[in-house]
Amino acid sequence: MRTKLIPPASESGSESKRESDFESWGRYPKVKSSLRPLHWMGDFPLRPAVSPQLPVGMGRSYGDVCLLEGGTLLGTRGLDRLLAFDAQTGLLRCESGVTLAEILRFAVPLGWFLPVTPGTKYVTVGGAIANDIHGKNHHVAGTFGCHVPRFELVRSDGTRISCSASENSDWFAATIGGMGLTGLIAWAEVQLRPIVSRNICYEGIRFHGMDEFLALSAASSHAEYTVAWIDCISRGRNFARGIFMLGDHSHLPDPLLPTPEPRLSVPFDFPGWALNRFAMRVFNGAYYHKQRHRHVSALVDYEPFFYPLDKVLHWNRIYGKRGFLQFQCVLPFAHGREGMEAILQAIADSGLGSFLAVLKVMGNPASPGSMSFPMPGITLALDIPIHSDVTFRLFDRLAEMTRELGGRLYPAKDARMTAAQFQFFYPQWREFAAYRDPDFTSSFWERVTHGA
Ligand SMILES: Cc1cc2nc3c(=O)[nH]c(=O)nc-3n(C[C@H](O)[C@H](O)[C@H](O)COP(=O)(O)OP(=O)(O)OC[C@H]3O[C@@H](n4cnc5c(N)ncnc54)[C@H](O)[C@@H]3O)c2cc1C
Repeated sequence: MRTKLIPPASESGSESKRESDFESWGRYPKVKSSLRPLHWMGDFPLRPAVSPQLPVGMGRSYGDVCLLEGGTLLGTRGLDRLLAFDAQTGLLRCESGVTLAEILRFAVPLGWFLPVTPGTKYVTVGGAIANDIHGKNHHVAGTFGCHVPRFELVRSDGTRISCSASENSDWFAATIGGMGLTGLIAWAEVQLRPIVSRNICYEGIRFHGMDEFLALSAASSHAEYTVAWIDCISRGRNFARGIFMLGDHSHLPDPLLPTPEPRLSVPFDFPGWALNRFAMRVFNGAYYHKQRHRHVSALVDYEPFFYPLDKVLHWNRIYGKRGFLQFQCVLPFAHGREGMEAILQAIADSGLGSFLAVLKVMGNPASPGSMSFPMPGITLALDIPIHSDVTFRLFDRLAEMTRELGGRLYPAKDARMTAAQFQFFYPQWREFAAYRDPDFTSSFWERVTHGA
């Protein structure tokens, strides 16, 4: 049975008491849960109470942070109202099930843009806060939570907590990056940033190796957006080659038209053999050579710059039914260069490849969340299809290497780290656990606190 996290709008408000299969974006693991779509803020807390439960947005997390085996998922997509907007300051108040795509559709024609955006616009505001997501501008803008002045948290006993940096600041810090465990975020304020054009002034620069990547990152810290695609399959003289990408919002006024919705969709699961090493090698070579000159610059629309994958709905089906694992680590600068080289070498040597590997320098802006993933250093994110135990063994090795190098893994992308690893990466987890709603948990949380 194919499973989806988010019920179509027609199902919102209906109540599903039967358990069915659920999966997140990585399609691994698959769990059995029941779904209770929320439509109005008054729909929560559930009466009679149920336990355990977990809020879920668009299910765009890759692992099990948005899954709950044997529990009830609170579908928040029905909480999709924009509540207030100040056109002078760009402060938006909206319900937590509003997606970033919906904010863009509303705000871009008015000359406003998201302060921070991930590589997909199909995530909810609640999900963006709960994972304290980051984007290509982390080095200057920090995380999404840095741009959320206030939100309301509702606990399963009905307590409503207004949270900001000055009011209930401990709940504010626990909920940003709190993986949906402290209660339901009902609504939030998001501070948007002004734009005069949809366009991004883009530059792409080919590089070879970590030294060149780091030099380009240092020389580009003036740019608002920086990220690099890296070939993580080639060895020898092509090892760690990539394309470094920079972008800034254009200052030349241009019509701010809304974006048409994508029409392309992957209609079926690809067979496992379609994703062999040969196909990935061809893809990586072609992607590197797609840019014919060492250095190119162009004016590009923000959609392909930020969301190249959103053009194809359900692209995760190309990984087939078994799904894929995502690995995202951040290594501190002290071990960044050698550590990242060792990790990239281990991936290239494993014989497993990835189409999509991105490298980025994370900056100093402090995250407001006590459990937020980002820290100053170098982050690498990549997808690897699940073939067999070989994939799991590689991930176990990469997690251990990350631990030895003083880094950490990103819960939003994880389906594999052990309890010992999590507790090493996030030693503050016990203090955080005091803020967990007693009725809320997730498959991720059960896994990483097991035996504690
Ligand atoms: C193609 C792609 C690119 C991505 N790029 C990036 C990136 O660049 N940077 C990055 O940081 N992430 C990235 N992500 C991950 C994604 O941004 C996060 O996983 C995000 O949290 C997903 O939001 P969602 O609405 O789908 O939430 P879900 O995945 O459904 O849930 C995420 C967490 O939020 C909690 N939650 C959801 N709604 C609420 C609520 N109302 N109240 C309380 N808790 C709630 C859930 O319990 C869960 O713990 C990417 C994902 C994809 C698929």
